[in-house]
Amino acid sequence: MFNATLSFAQQKDAQDELRKFSNEFYFPQHNNRNAIYFCGNSLGLQPKNVASAIQQELKDWQNLGVGGYLHAKNPWLYYQHNFSQPLAGIVGSKEKEVTVMNTLTVNLHLILLSFYHPTKNRFKIMMEAGAFPSDQYAIETQVRFYGLDPDEAIIEITPRDGEKLIGDEDILAAIEKNKESLALILFGGINYYSGQVFDMKEITGAAHRAGAIAGFDLAHAVGNIPLQLHDWDIDFAVWCSYKYLNGGPGAVGGAYVHERYTQNKDHIRLAGWWGNDEKTRFKMEKGFVAKPDASGWNISTAQVFNMVSLKASLEIFEQTDIQSLRVKSEELTAYLEFLLNSLDNLDFEIITPADKEKRGAQLSLFFKEDGKAIHQKMIDDGIVLDYREPGVIRVAPAPLYNSFEDVYRFYEILKNFK
Ligand SMILES: *Cc1c(COP(=O)(O)O)cnc(C)c1O
Repeated sequence: MFNATLSFAQQKDAQDELRKFSNEFYFPQHNNRNAIYFCGNSLGLQPKNVASAIQQELKDWQNLGVGGYLHAKNPWLYYQHNFSQPLAGIVGSKEKEVTVMNTLTVNLHLILLSFYHPTKNRFKIMMEAGAFPSDQYAIETQVRFYGLDPDEAIIEITPRDGEKLIGDEDILAAIEKNKESLALILFGGINYYSGQVFDMKEITGAAHRAGAIAGFDLAHAVGNIPLQLHDWDIDFAVWCSYKYLNGGPGAVGGAYVHERYTQNKDHIRLAGWWGNDEKTRFKMEKGFVAKPDASGWNISTAQVFNMVSLKASLEIFEQTDIQSLRVKSEELTAYLEFLLNSLDNLDFEIITPADKEKRGAQLSLFFKEDGKAIHQKMIDDGIVLDYREPGVIRVAPAPLYNSFEDVYRFYEILKNFK
């Protein structure tokens, strides 16, 4: 059903209802034309509406000073409210279950302080082997914080011998096996290196049957694949906003907490005034009263300039929906896979699952040799993508701004290598 021709790619673009969104983004330039940008899994492109959104906040600050908290076009006191609706749609939750604050690894630490309470018998955390390093460091130092030995307290699930992917059934079996001692599981929704999607629903069910908390790092899943955090009964999730959400470098992070906890004001957390009920926040009295939603985990004043670009970016997501993006994404990635599989001049293996249900927008190409040099050659030819040790070039066509023609041009450049 696919063809390795430019005219086929252009015909697919002509039929694509989401094609118009690529005009909403700035592309880096290479030889006076748009670079082929396949790095939205690392840093999404800048939406063109960001500059005016930042200008608006600058103007309100300039004209109103402190009055901006109540009288800015988007009052800063309630700034986080702007995110609940779009994010709930993207992650599949109730509006009250999501918030934005801080950054990803900071949120992971804070949420673990709220959900990880090791006891003598139940103290283990399970995660995927080869998780993103920041998550590994976070978990390692969390268990040390409680005086535990990472070798005893952390269970890493690895692929079977000779395999590159972790079997969901191996995760489920390991949860069952450790059901007496397991306190919490933390998996990526999608592993950053392999691009593998984990079965969040099944893993959560197994964790709960074992009496453990189920949390996920959705850095590579949010804005990429449809999620149903509430219906899957996930306890908490955290993510960053600068990958597929296009919120810009270091943009505010996101968090989801299931309503069974948000409604419990006594659920333990480290608090600050921004998580306190707005009605009593400025009474400056003793006694923290948590807001009965995910923003009850907010600590500090809204970081408006760290949020405004995400606000602007989500306005673009609001013009479509994650299901439509996913339909295009599956085709775009399948076309990339089809073209890559027809190359015979480069020696690599696609380690990302071939099953479209088990992957998002990213294909990871594993080069036994010369991966780094080949990556450099791609960069020199105006293709933006990244290299991750050992040996993997990650290629991520983002459905919001990438086209079938981008994928074809990428293939054409590779075809002429060597
Ligand atoms: C991108 C990414 C991070 C980065 O964390 P920051 O705190 O935003 O620097 C962490 N974890 C995963 C899984 C990621 O993909």
